[in-house]
Amino acid sequence: MTKRVRATIRGRVQGVGFRPTVYRYAKEAGLAGFVRNAPAGVVVELEGPAERIEGFFARLEKAPPPQARIDSVEREEIPPGDETDFQIAPTAHSGDLLVGLPPDLATCPDCLAELRDPADRRFGYPFTNCTNCGPRFTIVRSLPYDRPRTSMAPFQMCEACRAEYESPEDRRFDAQPNACAACGPRLRLVDPAGHALDGDPIEEAAEALRAGRIVAVKGLGGFHLAVDATSEEPVARLRERKRRPSKALAVMFASLEELRGSCRFGPEEEAMLLSPRRPIVVLPRRPGAPLAAGISPDTRDVGAFLPYTPLHALLLEKVSPLVMTSGNLAEEPIARTDEELAPLLGPVADFALTHDREIVRRCDDSVMKLAGGRPLPYRRSRGWVPDAVRLPVDGAPVIACGGEMKNTFCVTRGDRALVSQHIGELSDLPAFRFFAENVRDFCALLQVEPRVVAHDLHPDYVSTRWALDSGLRTVAVQHHHAHAASVMVEHGLTGPVLGVSLDGTGYGPDGTVWGGEFLACDLAGYERFARLGHYPLPGGEETVRRPVRMALACLLSDPETARDEVVEAVLGRMPAAERRVVARMIERGFRTPLTSSAGRLFDAVSALLGLCDEIDYEGQAAVRLQWAAADGVDGAYEFALEDDGSGPLVLDFSPTIRGIVRDIRSGAEAGRIAAMFHNTLAAGVRAVCLEARARKNLETVTLSGGCFQNERLLGLVTDGLASDGFEVCSHERVPPNDAGICLGQAAVALALARKIGDNVGPGGR
Ligand SMILES: [Zn+2]
Ligand SMILES: [Zn+2]
Ligand SMILES: [Zn+2]
Repeated sequence: MTKRVRATIRGRVQGVGFRPTVYRYAKEAGLAGFVRNAPAGVVVELEGPAERIEGFFARLEKAPPPQARIDSVEREEIPPGDETDFQIAPTAHSGDLLVGLPPDLATCPDCLAELRDPADRRFGYPFTNCTNCGPRFTIVRSLPYDRPRTSMAPFQMCEACRAEYESPEDRRFDAQPNACAACGPRLRLVDPAGHALDGDPIEEAAEALRAGRIVAVKGLGGFHLAVDATSEEPVARLRERKRRPSKALAVMFASLEELRGSCRFGPEEEAMLLSPRRPIVVLPRRPGAPLAAGISPDTRDVGAFLPYTPLHALLLEKVSPLVMTSGNLAEEPIARTDEELAPLLGPVADFALTHDREIVRRCDDSVMKLAGGRPLPYRRSRGWVPDAVRLPVDGAPVIACGGEMKNTFCVTRGDRALVSQHIGELSDLPAFRFFAENVRDFCALLQVEPRVVAHDLHPDYVSTRWALDSGLRTVAVQHHHAHAASVMVEHGLTGPVLGVSLDGTGYGPDGTVWGGEFLACDLAGYERFARLGHYPLPGGEETVRRPVRMALACLLSDPETARDEVVEAVLGRMPAAERRVVARMIERGFRTPLTSSAGRLFDAVSALLGLCDEIDYEGQAAVRLQWAAADGVDGAYEFALEDDGSGPLVLDFSPTIRGIVRDIRSGAEAGRIAAMFHNTLAAGVRAVCLEARARKNLETVTLSGGCFQNERLLGLVTDGLASDGFEVCSHERVPPNDAGICLGQAAVALALARKIGDNVGPGGR
């Protein structure tokens, strides 16, 4: 029996070769009708025998195009039409344009094969791509995603490319960045004077890298700085020039096989490494790996990744492995244009391997780790943006500004949040400009005009001032409430939960610096159920930079340790003037707020053990403490959980510090002390959670905050709570650090609007 079916297919179904696949399957099944892109996804109409139509859908669901993701297929039967053939109908551009814009995708195996086939017309062409791979988000100026609105617009397709682009049978049908050596972008190698060098740019760049030189390489979302990863001296030179003394540098390997010689990894990590998102995956380094020690001096891990553009593949075939770190100074935004690269070319890079396809949007590499068998994002950027995150609440569009460090922001529409790429440290002027531009850009992409802006409660954050100047209605969200809410969003929860946040610094409404918080909360509000014990933070930021001061602050604020000989040892590592100043500040409470920060506790213990007196990147003291911790140590120190009936419970670790001081005095191993400190912190968290269950019936615990980037702590806390029967939720989609909080801010703002009956509803978009 002949019938006609109309199906609306939702998911990632545009810009990924979906229509040609539908076309091919329909043709092969001898069905008539059409396929076209629609605002909601893809619409297919099929006419023919019922069993062939069923066969078509079964095949499409079983074998969709490689980069597609089918979320739903809605089918209805309609009256027969009069076509005798199947066609790809022109696109009606309206409504949800973002459906058609996937993230940037790593080069697919078919394109790689062409790149290496001397008989292929794309042999060795570094901008080869197809519908299944290549740049997207980083080349689009505006939507809909069509070539004239991308940075490929200036390149006229040659006849051969045009034929591919127009043929539904071809892998390059409708592939917007389609190009070849005859018509597409061109590579050149330039010296600091801006002169293009003669010869093959890739061969010459490889030669320079082999000779230990630093080469800036234009990638998808910005320039990398590349240097030979096997040799100490060039790596050290790169660090010095880039002003990045010790934070780990990412390493790109030519192949999985080569990577196997340097790092250990299992099937889950292999899948991450090979996925089209192609993140940096943090892996344990093999002893004796042929890599410079200077790559990650504070850990035994390596941030490893594989080539994700044809240019990377061609370069790495000639010289590998390479350090590939963001092309910037310190924490500035990654260089995107030749103009932005100019201050680095010469002072930092000896050459630049660049090209004439403009990067429209900056986008840093994403960074992931596998922790306890689950993905733990450190940075969610290239390959993920602009994939939306679904919220458990919806309402009128909101801009959520995020935090000050590792900033990302998000813009919502309905129940979707579009989380931005990595922006950086907002206190830095170029990063702040990048933030402001990008907020506008995202609102345009989503076609929304938000009327509400959610920001951190901190009055001095640049993002708070930006929010207050925006003219929009503002919602201030407490930092750790946002942390907890961000985990709730990932797990589709609205609460109540016990939100555990262990991190560095967050503004507290009581005039203290929060950072070790247990909030009994839902999305709309929180009660501070418990906190870590207070320590003085002499001079605020200065002590954040100098953990040795934090160690002294911990020792001096407890009469039992204030006169210990360990104090003398710590003092001996500080300049005399600083010692006097810090001691006086603590005594008088001058410019010395109190803090319940877990991050500062890590700092203090790390400095007490002599692991880190001063940091050059955020979290460094904690990283060293984590890596110092010995395996197979079960013991823990004492701690106290106090309730004076007047406020939150206090999880007091001064007994822990006393125990550590005793152990240091008696010459115990630093590795053992560090391990016991981790065990103690986990035990303390567990004790608070049990108390919250007894008093508040809270069975679900969320874990967030930068300290949970430490997979040792994350594992101990998760295992302990799980054995107590708690539902434990941690981050898998956005980072636990402040790069995740925009998501929580947005959810809180939406939940509050709903609670006070202020929901403008879908009509208000
Ligand atoms: Zn491809
Ligand atoms: Zn061409
Ligand atoms: Zn935080």
